[in-house]
Amino acid sequence: MPEGDTVFLAASRLHAALAGEKLLATEFRVPRPVRTSRGPTYKLGPRSSFATDLSGQVVREVAARGKHLLLRTDAGTTLHTHFKMEGAWHLYRPGERWRGPDFQVRAVLRTEPWVAVGFRLAICELLPTASEHEVVGHLGPDVLGPDWDPAEAVRRLRADPDRAIGTALLDQRAIAGPGNIYKSEVCFLRGVDPWTPAGKVEDLEGMVDLLKRLMEANRTTGSQLTTGDTRPGRTHWVAARTGKPCRRCGTPIRKADQPSYDGERVTYWCPTCQPGPGPPTTRRR
Ligand SMILES: [Zn+2]
Repeated sequence: MPEGDTVFLAASRLHAALAGEKLLATEFRVPRPVRTSRGPTYKLGPRSSFATDLSGQVVREVAARGKHLLLRTDAGTTLHTHFKMEGAWHLYRPGERWRGPDFQVRAVLRTEPWVAVGFRLAICELLPTASEHEVVGHLGPDVLGPDWDPAEAVRRLRADPDRAIGTALLDQRAIAGPGNIYKSEVCFLRGVDPWTPAGKVEDLEGMVDLLKRLMEANRTTGSQLTTGDTRPGRTHWVAARTGKPCRRCGTPIRKADQPSYDGERVTYWCPTCQPGPGPPTTRRR
């Protein structure tokens, strides 16, 4: 599942390929334009296709903001996309065969050297660049952004002190970028039970600093590596390792659902290395 470093890497690649290039043709395979206060937006829906022409506009830059990707043109237009669980942008040379089913294509941007194809995009909308704050203004400090502010991230994580830290870490309004894997991994590495109230986490500054260092280290690969071991099956401490022995103490790793801003998400932890309240028994599995 794409996390902030994945989106950062996607933005870097798209920027390197497209910045300064003129769009020769564009296509957005989303249901219909919707007019809102910020102008026409194009929301994802049932499969259909219509042309929205950005041709002639030059790509100024492609930037990541948390898990949001913003492609800006010289005409003051922003293409805002979000991967959610499984989106991706691919780059192809003109004429090259696309590696993905046609029906999952949401956006096609053609330039002379490259064709950028957006697959399974959960959000795909156009808006004036001047109105970007309406779609990303709610985000907390961006772990991989130029405006990273760890003190403000800690303040926002603690703002709701009774909320479980595993829930708080996924709240993009508190801290933009981390996803489910980093949530479980940093809690393990700091020895913190993910159900510990945010206000009771000792050295939350240290946890946020570790998160930053891990995501920074992975931003050129998008691999979400946390163990330093790239061999298959060894890349994480607890994530997706249910029932397997903890790499530190041998206790079987557990998993349980934990609320997040967009529904329940699975949290993994070692009950020995991360002593604490644990999940409510009704959610235990
Ligand atoms: Zn353990």
